[in-house]
Amino acid sequence: MAPIAEIAQVEPLTTARSLRGPFDYRLPAALAGVEVGSLLVVPFGRRRVLGVVTGLAETTDVPPERLVAPLEALSSGVPADLVRLAEWMAAEYCSTPARALSLVLPPGTGAGMREKRALVAELTEADSSGLRLGSRQRAALAALSGGPLAAAEVPGGHGTLRRLEARGLVRLGNEVRGRRPVHVRVGSAPASAPPLTADQAAALEPVAGAVRAGRAERFLLHGVTGSGKTEIYLRATEAALERGRGAIVLVPEIALTPQIVARFEARFGPTVAVLHSNLGEGERHDEWLRLRRGEARVCVGPRSAVFAPVADLGLIVVDEEHEPSYKHEGDPRYDARRVAQRRAADAGAVLVAGSATPRPETALDAAGPGNGGIEGGPEVGDPPFRRLRLPERVDGRPLPPVELLDMREVRGALHPRAHAALEGVRRDGGKAIVLLNRRGWSNFLSCRSCGRVWECPDCDVALVLHRAQGTMDCHHCGHRERAPASCDACGSTSVARHGVGTERLEAELGAAFEGFPVFRLDADAAAGKGAAGGVLAAFEAASAGVLVGTQMVAKGHDFPDVTLGLVLDADATLRFPDFRAEERTFALVTQLAGRAGRGPRGGVVLVQTLAPDTPALIRAARHDADGFLAEELARREALSYPPFADLIRVVCASAEPGAAGRAAAAVRARLDVPGGAILGPAPLFRLRGRERAQVVVKARDRAGAVRAVGAAVDAVAADRAHRAAAFSVDVDPQ
Ligand code: ADP
Ligand code: ZN
Ligand code: ZN
Repeated sequence: MAPIAEIAQVEPLTTARSLRGPFDYRLPAALAGVEVGSLLVVPFGRRRVLGVVTGLAETTDVPPERLVAPLEALSSGVPADLVRLAEWMAAEYCSTPARALSLVLPPGTGAGMREKRALVAELTEADSSGLRLGSRQRAALAALSGGPLAAAEVPGGHGTLRRLEARGLVRLGNEVRGRRPVHVRVGSAPASAPPLTADQAAALEPVAGAVRAGRAERFLLHGVTGSGKTEIYLRATEAALERGRGAIVLVPEIALTPQIVARFEARFGPTVAVLHSNLGEGERHDEWLRLRRGEARVCVGPRSAVFAPVADLGLIVVDEEHEPSYKHEGDPRYDARRVAQRRAADAGAVLVAGSATPRPETALDAAGPGNGGIEGGPEVGDPPFRRLRLPERVDGRPLPPVELLDMREVRGALHPRAHAALEGVRRDGGKAIVLLNRRGWSNFLSCRSCGRVWECPDCDVALVLHRAQGTMDCHHCGHRERAPASCDACGSTSVARHGVGTERLEAELGAAFEGFPVFRLDADAAAGKGAAGGVLAAFEAASAGVLVGTQMVAKGHDFPDVTLGLVLDADATLRFPDFRAEERTFALVTQLAGRAGRGPRGGVVLVQTLAPDTPALIRAARHDADGFLAEELARREALSYPPFADLIRVVCASAEPGAAGRAAAAVRARLDVPGGAILGPAPLFRLRGRERAQVVVKARDRAGAVRAVGAAVDAVAADRAHRAAAFSVDVDPQ
């Protein structure tokens, strides 16, 4: 018989950076069922805190008189493999085990969330015909004759049911009644699988083979927009289910990709669970439990779904793997793509990353030795990605031609060619999508007499006018104030509005193209549960119209009747000082082009730009992903950017003037990164009332650099001289 573990090693879930477990607790016999992943309430100093069991042991160094027992064990815990994944994440992203563990807990843990248990009543087989029953009891029995009901739904309520139970006529039990989320349907989703095209069959074959054999292989599914990548994900999932294994399907933003959810639900039914940040906590908790209990085996969700409690994982899909939303902007600042790779490797699961515009990182990996591509790059991962291609759209339709429109001589928001094209779509009663990656009415306001520019009081950025609300908003911190009627510096009522955002564009298009319905999709229009899906569904249902919006309109939507795609200010992304600017621009234009011309009427894409010579735009116009990737990788290599080096960013912030800069300088002084380069400290713009400064490390030895940065930050954070500063570490910043 195996010895019984008597010591639980518990990581207390506190956010303090300096406090790290695990700490040992004595397990009394009553808690013999505790295992790795169990959630315990433990005494901690004078407090009671929630903790996760990260290990079990037979002995401890803690003297017996100081060893205490947990107070309580919660009913639900975390699977052990997710505890290990969290421990890896804590180290990989320079965070703490407690913060990483908090990401893998059942939704709502700690917030007093428990399973919603409802008293459920059903009839026994006992015969009630000869019995004298009151009218309430009869009504209750009649209600239950159709099947079990929640006690609250039975006339007469609990009292009546208890009396019927006492007479043996009704059985009462506690049954968990799942709150299944309801989704807005966009697009038809046939339940039966279409026969695969030859390209799809060739791409699926190695994926399904690896799933069936349980080999932890990695695939990059590089398929042009509309090439039927989702069908590959569906078939690969089917293969996993056939082997009795589960699957996780990551999508960038679930509110914007209702079609893929609908397709999974149509194909696999209730074995699909959807985890969605827009769900209520109760709904998320119930979906989580369905997965944990194995009632659902497939999880579709955004980046956090990489932590779904799917047992016996056989497959992880990362759809649209180029999407920045896979990066989490809270501590730990994990990248779900990397976590997915790690989890798949640990679970012996197949990883499929799909995109029409793969990241240079993934493309380089997939082009490495053995794949007949670029040689000499670093070892990005193990095993390397294998590239699978879907070079054509499913129906053999060509990708739409893309024209660049030079805006340098044009006044107004629309190029004459774009205006004519929109007019043509209106006349034909067709559909168009217009992308402008800027929300609000205008970018900034200034006073015509004194030149004052309205800025956020807490951040060094201009406020954006939202006309319908009558407000000026800060897009960085959420500060909001009333739109001014006059200048509060000089009293002038002459206030200039500069630039065009989606709100203004919606109004201008509505005025310019009469009788042509305009739909708007951006963070404002999509605020609130189901709002984004509602806009998409309305656009789909309309016989004609134009969908205007931010990058949200360029996601994987499949609207066959869109014949025109239009990008305004395509080089806006290039004006950010970011080494990923080219990559973003290429992806945005390519993805928008992917929305057009999916139907029999074909389509065209127009791209307005102030920089028509930009290589990323020229490549996008030629649908030349390979040319773009080769060029971009050469540039990254020359500048030692990812994937040829790893970046780690430390941001120091403080309300006290000067403290952030001093803290960043102290971190810099303590940093020693052999073979790497250290940039900064450099000031960043003020955010939420706090000055900020950053230090960036370009590392060749990732693990060593992460350790060095962690040690330097811990040391400076512990120094009382820098207690005014807050620190955040971002490995692989976006
Ligand atoms: P992608 O994700 O590559 O952009 P989708 O998965 O959205 O492409 O597929 C584009 C369209 O083609 C969808 O409407 C899909 O239902 C359809 N489709 C996919 N595979 C097939 C097939 N083998 N036969 C017929 N239609 C298909
Ligand atoms: Zn003024
Ligand atoms: Zn602000």
